[in-house]
Amino acid sequence: MRKIRLAVVIAAALGLNVTGATLWFRPVDGYGWNSPANWLTGAGTAVNRLPQTDDAVLLSSSRIQADTPLVVPGGVTALCQRLTVGEIYNNGSHPVVCIEAGATLRCAGTNLTDRICLGDVGSGTLLLRGGTVTFGHTTATHRNFVLRKSAGVKGILRGWGTVNPTPEVTHVRMENNGTVIADGEGTARDLDLHGIVSTTNTLARGADGSNGWYAVNQGRVLFPRTWINGAASPSSIRCLGDATTRIDPELVNSLRASFTGLPGSGVFFRGGLYATNHPALPPLPKGRCLGVWGLGLYANNTGWETSDLTTFSTVGLTFRYDDAACAESTNLLTLYRYESNAWVKVGARMARPPYRISTKRPLPRLTSGAWNVGLFALMASNTLGTVVLLDDQSETDPNERLVIDKNLSAGNILLERMEDDTIYLQNEMRDTAGWWFYWAFRARGAAGRTLTFSFTNGDPVCTRGPCVSLDQGQTWYYAADSFTTRSFTYTFPPNAQEVWFAMGMVYTQRDWEAFLARHTASSAYIETGTLCTSPAGRAVEKARIGCIDRPPKYRVWLSARHHAAEMMASYVLEGILDAALADTELGTWMRNNVEFMVVPFVDKDGVEEGDQGKNRRPHDHNRDYTEFLYPECVAITNWIATHAQSKLEIVLDIHCPWIRGTYNEWLYQVYTENSENAAAQRRLGELLQEHQRGALDYRLANDLPFGQSWNTAANYSAGRSFKMWALDCVSSNRVCTTYEVPFATANTATVTREACREFGEDTTKVFRLFLQETDPL
Ligand SMILES: [Zn+2]
Repeated sequence: MRKIRLAVVIAAALGLNVTGATLWFRPVDGYGWNSPANWLTGAGTAVNRLPQTDDAVLLSSSRIQADTPLVVPGGVTALCQRLTVGEIYNNGSHPVVCIEAGATLRCAGTNLTDRICLGDVGSGTLLLRGGTVTFGHTTATHRNFVLRKSAGVKGILRGWGTVNPTPEVTHVRMENNGTVIADGEGTARDLDLHGIVSTTNTLARGADGSNGWYAVNQGRVLFPRTWINGAASPSSIRCLGDATTRIDPELVNSLRASFTGLPGSGVFFRGGLYATNHPALPPLPKGRCLGVWGLGLYANNTGWETSDLTTFSTVGLTFRYDDAACAESTNLLTLYRYESNAWVKVGARMARPPYRISTKRPLPRLTSGAWNVGLFALMASNTLGTVVLLDDQSETDPNERLVIDKNLSAGNILLERMEDDTIYLQNEMRDTAGWWFYWAFRARGAAGRTLTFSFTNGDPVCTRGPCVSLDQGQTWYYAADSFTTRSFTYTFPPNAQEVWFAMGMVYTQRDWEAFLARHTASSAYIETGTLCTSPAGRAVEKARIGCIDRPPKYRVWLSARHHAAEMMASYVLEGILDAALADTELGTWMRNNVEFMVVPFVDKDGVEEGDQGKNRRPHDHNRDYTEFLYPECVAITNWIATHAQSKLEIVLDIHCPWIRGTYNEWLYQVYTENSENAAAQRRLGELLQEHQRGALDYRLANDLPFGQSWNTAANYSAGRSFKMWALDCVSSNRVCTTYEVPFATANTATVTREACREFGEDTTKVFRLFLQETDPL
């Protein structure tokens, strides 16, 4: 008897008029909500049936368990004083309460602690499938509806239905640290929270960063409204979907608006997030849609008619978009507003943390359509390798737009954002293990401007600043106004149509072809061919130069770009061949005695595509002479075996070192562990020091003996280098060496293309001396 009375008293206290029965869910047969045995009267008598229309259900948090959702069917009102889904009694499970269409969940308690909480010490979900949630307590400062009370749990509201169906009740408040998912289940349906007066936010988004607002399956969520006191301030900044006064919206798909010209009264900023397949949306712009928001400023907190809209002058918006929806390949985001039946671009930025995109400038109020702030669509696209627009101020004249892209040979850049006249960017690592420093890009539409380029991922600006070309790479200069190791400022000439910038003086296939074109008069001494086809299908060049119409007295091997980005090496290689083809006594001697076997670009794909090349995973081309993953390395060994019968007098493979610091600001040879060869390298160095003209200020003392600095056995643990393979497998070798040609600074000298070629010519001169003095008697 006592329990019956208790149930009636509680039912009365909760404001329930019961025409059907009052049922308790009290587990007898497990925790199954669908088990009739678990439904009892207040007296503890089994009713042996499930709740049905006109019944009242009294809920207690501790009775809600996982596995079987607790389903409140249509026509049933579920009453609670307070309700926590996911509390300590739930044994760490993730329980779900489901309110079906026509059913109501009423939190009727009137104490400040009486509220609905989804996710407390454990995770919890409230699934609305057309149901309604109401509250008895609507005192100001009362947080009636809490999603995710503690950091390590999930608190989820999902489905469609209404929370507080009487929006004029002004004090239903939400504390949202969790996830709200409007799920229309395939039909255009709203999850309507606009009857909630405000949202606060007390936890960070959580380790997975995914808490916030979502809409799927033709659903749409209507955000809790944000009230703005226009009388107090005609210009106001407010968030929608996050704590109203937050400076930056943090919950996923929440946003911030900055209004001017508000009317002198209280107004309501309201709107919602659409599923991208919502049938009410116009066809979306090109790209992959990350989110669609409809936003308006209203005179009241109830109506959604155009007559309920109110006035303002301008609005600027910042959206905290769903970064998880960006595919790996996404790099450009474009924000559109629907104006006069067309999508108009209102913002663009690169897809990067902190995952916010803003309108480029304040937008005027729209005077037609359902939303006077606007219907916004955020589209993602992948523009890598194509044109990237950062600064889209002048839509009308594409020629006046600033365009920065990597559409040049060996282009390599990732654009992050532009703020005023500073462009933030990164160089691309691609498949490099760790950081490396190569980059190259071009800028158009910047004539007369002074721009600063700031790298955000390291210090990839060389010791003399960026290399600049005004003629698409035919000539290069060190030309920055100023620079640091990670940024530079450049004033574009008033007539500059297109300016190339790179960390070095880019050298690619077209430069090699220009070199060959310079020597067409010497075609009798040049035979070009294809070493092999690269993995990307390119022809990998080879050339025989010099004494090629009969067996030569000496064969000299020349290669470069085992590491794709080491472009200054290529100018030294050119200089060596220039001297061998020159109309000089030295040139004549070389053509009579020496055949050069040349591979100008070992990692051909990496060179053309602008890869770092060095430390490519799983190992780079110059560590491939153990495993032979790369067809170029296989073809090199085959060519040496078949054409030269594995006999070469000199092997020179040319490289460039690190970007700055000791050993990286001078030219040096890398001595081998093999001491006989190291002695030959040293002799070559003596000759170079003695006979060079000094363009690169080479000093014998700068050479790197084996066992010092990076030149140790550990450096080759990933595999054998070309030089080591040649020492092991090529006979009649008099010297087998590598040059490290610095990028910008060589002791007292500045490294230029001309200086590198001059050092190459000196090398040819020294090769002759070395060959002659090492000839057997
Ligand atoms: Zn190298």
